[in-house]
Parts: sequence; C-alpha cells; structure tokens
Amino acid sequence: MTAILSLRGVTKQYASGHKALGSVDLDVEEGEIFALLGPNGAGKTTLISIICGIVRASGGTVHVGGHDIVRDYRQTRATIGLVPQELSTDQFERVIDTVRFSRGLFGKPRDDAYIEKVLRDLTLWDKRHSKLQELSGGMKRRVMIAKALAHEPRLLFLDEPTAGVDVELRRDMWALVRQLRDNGATIILTTHYIEEAEDMADRVGVITGGELILVEDKARLMKKLGKKTLRITLNEPMSAVPAALSDWRVTLESEGAELEYVFDSQAERTGISALLGQLSALGIGYKDLNTKESSLEDIFVDLVHKPATRSEQAA
Ligand code: ATP
Repeated sequence: MTAILSLRGVTKQYASGHKALGSVDLDVEEGEIFALLGPNGAGKTTLISIICGIVRASGGTVHVGGHDIVRDYRQTRATIGLVPQELSTDQFERVIDTVRFSRGLFGKPRDDAYIEKVLRDLTLWDKRHSKLQELSGGMKRRVMIAKALAHEPRLLFLDEPTAGVDVELRRDMWALVRQLRDNGATIILTTHYIEEAEDMADRVGVITGGELILVEDKARLMKKLGKKTLRITLNEPMSAVPAALSDWRVTLESEGAELEYVFDSQAERTGISALLGQLSALGIGYKDLNTKESSLEDIFVDLVHKPATRSEQAA
C-alpha cells in the first residue's frame, strides 16, 4: 500500500500566538478509514484545514497523492473532498445546481450520471430541485457530503459529520462511508462519538494539545491498552475488602454487593481461577460473574487524561 497522505513536522501557530499544532508526522494509506480523535480544541480542525489548504501551516510539509500541497495546490486540492463541521451553503440555490457547481469548481467536466448516483446514494434525488432553505438540517448535511463528493475525490475528510444528526442519518452516513471506502476512497474522519470510530476505523490517531500522541491500528490498540474487568456479584454484601484479598486488584462496588477485579487480558494467567479459589477458601459465596472489556472510549479517556502514563502505555 502507498501513502495517500504524508505529513512531516507540521506545526501551526496562529497569529494570536496560540500554538495549535506541535510537530505532527503522519502517513495515511490509500483505502483506509482513519479516525482522528481528540478533545475539544486539540487541533483536529486545524490539521484538516492545513491539509485542505484552508489554513497555512507554520512549518513542515504535507504531501497528498505524492504532491506537495503548497507547490501543487490545484492537483492536491482536486484529490481532496472536505465535509466541514459548519454547514455553509447558499440557501437560495437548488440542490442539484450546488452539487454540479462544486464539481465544476475543480475543472471536472459535467457528468450528470455521476451526480445522479451521488444524489441517489444520499437519498437526495427526490429533493434535487428543492432550494437548500427548504431542507431539514440533516438533509443539508447530506448536501454538504454530496458537494464534497461531486469531483470524485480520492481522499475524503469528514469533520464531525454526525454531530447533531439523528440516529437514522448517522447510520446512513456510515453505510455510505463504508461504500466509498469499498470503491477505493480513503476516509479521514473526526468524531466525538468514539463508538463510531470503534465501529468504523481501521486506524486511530489520538491528538491532544496539538500533539499526535498515538497512531495505531484499532484492533491492536484495543488489544494492547484494553483491560478486562470481572464483576463478582456476592451472595452477601461486604463492608470492606477482606485482608486476605489485599494482594489482588479487587475493589468493592455497588455498595458492597459486588467485587470488581481488573486483569490483563493479554497475560498468560488472568488470575481468575485463583481468585475464585481464594473466595471459596474464605467462605465468600457469589451468585453471578460478568466480564467486561474496555471500549475505545475507555482507552481514549485514559490516554487523554493521564498524560504521564502515555508513553508507557503506548510502548
Ligand atoms: P473541536 O473538537 O472543538 O472542533 P479541534 O480539535 O478541531 O476542536 P481546533 O479547532 O483545531 O481544535 O483548535 C485548536 C486550537 O487552536 C484551539 O485552542 C483553538 O482555540 C485555536 N484556534 C483555532 N482556530 C484559531 C484561529 N483562527 N486563531 C487563533 N486560534 C485558533
């Protein structure tokens, strides 16, 4: 696979003096879905805006499809489709005209069959002659996607595409993203719905305070940083963890009704059978056992809120 996007040492300091990006290095392979996660103000939009040529980097280089985004601006911009966070559409324009116009902006010849396909895929075909002001917010968002796809980009950026949209549209959008990827496009998305990234992404990047602190294959990340917990529902509630269990990583939960044991799911021995043996030896009865694996959200929260242990965890 080849990198469709390469960033080297990209920095951004705004005129206000605010340093929005440290030194970002990143390669995104053709055909992958890459999720960029980070808290508010982390620098996600700044990074996307630099790649799309909306904001100028203070330092570093960006290549899209092997071309430098500054030197070969037209070529790289034509490779990219951007669905921005903010809805920005001319309210009086009709759907089909605005989408056709977007295609024309990139110098692509008119292709009615392609535009029809895009509008049908986004269930906008019936609304093609509607003025944008007549559409619901969700429909307008679909129009933004149609505009971004109008010139057949190979690299599509979706900046918080599902913020404030209903469940049905969100589901439709993700189905569409998968379809685009299956057709060969590369997708980079930012989202606050981490379960979406967990569901969709092949790789995940975590950005915080302008630093890309981690880039990892999603499955590997969840395996590496994921923890499992075992919940033991006791027959009789306890007021404290017995001293004989002090060597175990157990805590009392649910007002003493449950014992929680955190274990490393990658370790050869989880310690579960020994712990249960110890409970029996102590005469502690239990009526239910449940295990839970940490989600990408748990891992993300851990990464973003415990910077001291970051390098340790990522190692
Ligand atoms: P969110 O999830 O809230 O959209 P984000 O990760 O996209 O956040 P950015 O919008 O890239 O974050 O902002 C990164 C930092 O840069 C923030 O502290 C923001 O206030 C600052 N910033 C963004 N745009 C400008 C600007 N034009 N001038 C000065 N500072 C800016």
